Amino acid sequence: MKGKRVSRRTVLKTGLAAAGAGLLGGAVRAQQAHYAKSPLLLGPARGNRVVIVGGGWGGVTTARTLKRLDPGIDVVLVEPKEIFMSCPLSNLYLAGVKDLHFFTFDYTNLVKDGIHFVNERALGVDRDRKRLLTTGGSIAYDYLVLSPGVEYAYERVAGLGEVKHLLPVGFRPFEHVALRRQIENFKGGDLVITVPKGPYRCPPGPYERAAMLAWYLKTNKIKGKVVLISAAAKPPKAPGFLAAYDELYADYLEYYPNTEVTGVDYGRKVIQTSLGEFDFDLLNLIPPMRAAEIVRKAGVTDGDWVDVRLPWHLAKNDDFIYVLGDADSAGGPKSGKLAFEEGKNRVAVHIAARIAGKEPPAPPPEVKNICYSFVNDEEAIWIAARYGWDAVKKRRKVLELKMDTKRTAKNGSLAYDWAFEHWGYMFG
Ligand SMILES: Cc1cc2nc3c(=O)[nH]c(=O)nc-3n(C[C@H](O)[C@H](O)[C@H](O)COP(=O)(O)OP(=O)(O)OC[C@H]3O[C@@H](n4cnc5c(N)ncnc54)[C@H](O)[C@@H]3O)c2cc1C
Repeated sequence: MKGKRVSRRTVLKTGLAAAGAGLLGGAVRAQQAHYAKSPLLLGPARGNRVVIVGGGWGGVTTARTLKRLDPGIDVVLVEPKEIFMSCPLSNLYLAGVKDLHFFTFDYTNLVKDGIHFVNERALGVDRDRKRLLTTGGSIAYDYLVLSPGVEYAYERVAGLGEVKHLLPVGFRPFEHVALRRQIENFKGGDLVITVPKGPYRCPPGPYERAAMLAWYLKTNKIKGKVVLISAAAKPPKAPGFLAAYDELYADYLEYYPNTEVTGVDYGRKVIQTSLGEFDFDLLNLIPPMRAAEIVRKAGVTDGDWVDVRLPWHLAKNDDFIYVLGDADSAGGPKSGKLAFEEGKNRVAVHIAARIAGKEPPAPPPEVKNICYSFVNDEEAIWIAARYGWDAVKKRRKVLELKMDTKRTAKNGSLAYDWAFEHWGYMFG
């Protein structure tokens, strides 16, 4: 007998509808009962309060824009780190081209703007009572913004969970410090970098890292090579990276595309891949990624990423929670530039309009991304895209894609200009 097929899509949609109707699981309910008892960390807000989780690219940009649009809004930024480190350009730090202070900023100017900086970690959300639970107590909100970035799915690589403390990834702020120390102590042999299946943060990032570490080995005359093992068929900006690998680093870099890492045996210094085993002397294993845990604790997704209502980045099942940056699955690469644009031109604008009791303005018709990658200490290549709006699929769609894959010092200088412009808006 033929039955009606229930597609995965239908199941997902039903799941979301159930969550939207407040049919949360027992664990989440128990957690919420616990939050209800947690003391309030901040007193009552003077005006409407917007609580933002994550003091990174999306969160800081949203906070600053909100205060500029309406200084009367009570903006609270919740971030467990005391200072910010930029991942964009951080491969220059790993290769010893720039010091750490070049990439780090404190939150002082945000506090001067009147933003409350709460140096705590968010633990969960009581959506019924509109409270965020943090390690320091709970905070009542009118609107909640989640821009917590990514976490690593260590359990998807056999043997990785047990040794993850030995293998700093350097795809989240400050992990770079331990990785840099390992690179400085590397005396030669195989420096293996592995690239997971997407989506992951900054698709060109591992390929830039491979080039910069090959540059480091070459410049410092270290008898070793970078072994780049990628699950993907080719890098973004492929002609630019492949030309650099070939022309600059033929003796310092081996590249294996279409090769997925399945396990690691740290004791034997071996990784297992779909192409067989590879030895390593130093390993930078970049694990598969998903949105940071707080989005699942908030009940806005039960998957890896958060499907949001575009163009304003509202959660699908809650009219008072916005999700942006790498954590969402709005389309396009997971980049600081997109997190910045989403915070500045979408989330902050929408919340400010709602608080002012006005209709939000028409959303900007497009969003632009640009991503520079260095291939040595001076020269860079870039890719840029303009995204529009697919009204039927309700998703972003690529309108135009441009690349400059010819490595030049001019592109390197443009990369610095880009970074200073964005850091300036966020922290200046
Ligand atoms: C090597 C590398 C190179 C890159 N190069 C570029 C580039 O050239 N251009 C570009 O546009 N992008 C680049 N990126 C990508 C960019 O860094 C990310 O896309 C960007 O950081 C995403 O912003 P976000 O706000 O989503 O997350 P983040 O900037 O990571 O901010 C998330 C913040 O949330 C905090 N957080 C997490 N959980 C909690 C919690 N429970 N409670 C409170 N706070 C929490 C974290 O501590 C963190 O500070 C690069 C990334 C890497 C790794």
